[in-house]
Amino acid sequence: ESAEDVTSHMGRMIKELPSTKAIDNMLVAGKDKGTLRLESRKPVVVLLGSGWGAHSILKVIDTDTYEVVCVSPRNHFLFTPMLPSTAVGTVEFRSLLEPVRVANPFVDFFEATCDKIDVKKKTIYCTSKNSYEDGFTPKFEVPFDILVVAVGEQPATFGVPGVEEHCYFMKEISDSSGLRQRIQSQFELAALPGTSEEDMRRALHFVVVGGGPTGVEFAGTLSDFLRDDLKKKYPEVMRYVCVSLLNATPSILVQFDEKMRQHALDNFKRVGVDVRNDTAVVEVTKNTIKLGTGEELPYGVCVWSAGNAPRPLIKDLAASIPEQAPFQPGGRPSKLAVDSYLRVIGAEDVLALGDASLYAPDRLPATAQVAGQQGAYAAHLINRGLRLGMGGLDQPPPSKPTNKLTLTDRAHAALGKSLVESPEGPKGVAYYNKGFTFVNLGVLAYLGDDRALTQIELPFASLKLSGEFAYLLYKSVYITKQVSFRNRVLILFDWLKTQVFGRDLEFDK
Ligand code: FAD
Repeated sequence: ESAEDVTSHMGRMIKELPSTKAIDNMLVAGKDKGTLRLESRKPVVVLLGSGWGAHSILKVIDTDTYEVVCVSPRNHFLFTPMLPSTAVGTVEFRSLLEPVRVANPFVDFFEATCDKIDVKKKTIYCTSKNSYEDGFTPKFEVPFDILVVAVGEQPATFGVPGVEEHCYFMKEISDSSGLRQRIQSQFELAALPGTSEEDMRRALHFVVVGGGPTGVEFAGTLSDFLRDDLKKKYPEVMRYVCVSLLNATPSILVQFDEKMRQHALDNFKRVGVDVRNDTAVVEVTKNTIKLGTGEELPYGVCVWSAGNAPRPLIKDLAASIPEQAPFQPGGRPSKLAVDSYLRVIGAEDVLALGDASLYAPDRLPATAQVAGQQGAYAAHLINRGLRLGMGGLDQPPPSKPTNKLTLTDRAHAALGKSLVESPEGPKGVAYYNKGFTFVNLGVLAYLGDDRALTQIELPFASLKLSGEFAYLLYKSVYITKQVSFRNRVLILFDWLKTQVFGRDLEFDK
């Protein structure tokens, strides 16, 4: 682009954006009610979250043009697909993380939770995650020109009593770290002299609830840990160990075809995981899991991986926008309905993506793949400086010419995605006249004992593999998908270390 092009493009963009709120009045109600002053008067883009969707925006958003503020209670990105491996030490926690401040040092990051979004006032209200010694917890608000909501979802308990109190979730590093410690302490308990057989059986009964990819991967990974590592350390108690996978629906891994599901079941039989389909948990107490059939299972550790539920922030926002009502299932606000440009229907200059959003034109799965691709799309949309306007299916799409096509734009256009060259417009000028398109790359699941299922979507067919070769493919996909070179190297070292020295137990804290 020539300097002139850039200036005129910038000029149009600044004009088209709503006037920048008094950024220098961005108020941080700290102890001294101080005011955070940002020196520039650039338009403010606020990102809520630091997960798959927000991270993929952070990586490419144009911080020269925008003042980018990221608010999240988690100061790092987490590569969730490999989280189950950290619970048994195959991979270390830090290998899956990337701090937000490293992902993009030009973004202002605040470790806080957004409690409320006022789309009319274009302001978010937040509470710090951290408190002072005297218990004071700072609260602050941030006005925005553009807001991107990518806060994901939280684990769903489906109202089953006792889940919150007695089960481990598999969502954050803290969950996995607590679980790793608990597995260790159950073995130490069982190994104490004088422990009755009944107590040993109970302490060493590991129950996983949920037959989706996360539950299955954890069950498989745990069976590796028991067989490869704990067997050597606690040989005397191994005959009391049991791993159960409870699944409320008729089949596990519904994302895969029947043959592959059968392969998963066969593998679990071989490695000693007891799979029980059509088995609903109705209550969890300190020592027992009550099933819908009336049966009571004594257990030592229960991992709850039965699905996700909306965050209160999203439910409240969806309920406060009347245009959202027709999109909410059963009239109950759950996710933010967005149009094909990821604009929140009924809100101005607000985008939503990932698990917190409901893509109104099509039904998309709640996966990292979708969130990551939507993040990249949203960043390109914002970087073009288009006026986003009011989200809604019948709104005219933003179809103004942007700047010249870059190589990435051409690749996007070739994939039929979002940015295309207009046949009517000047040659080489990109137009956003297509909404977001999801490109499904496939699904993977680890089953234990170095076996996996992989279903890779190719342009005209899908490549379905199961077994050891699929596991190699699984590993190579995950290594290439890591968000940084550092993480790639760390994971390779972790895998090597596990092969040579085995997995480490968690040390008592
Ligand atoms: P998230 O990644 O969940 O990020 C949400 C962010 O918002 C977090 O940083 C959170 O701290 C922050 N936040 C929460 N509340 C607030 C608030 N009030 N204010 C500000 N910030 C807030 N998907 C796949 O495609 N393949 C897989 O193999 C796969 N495996 C998975 C394994 C596990 C163990 C888990 C938990 C998930 C897995 N997923 C997988 C699903 C995938 O991780 C999610 O679909 C994806 O993380 C959704 O991205 P997101 O950006 O919408 O939300």
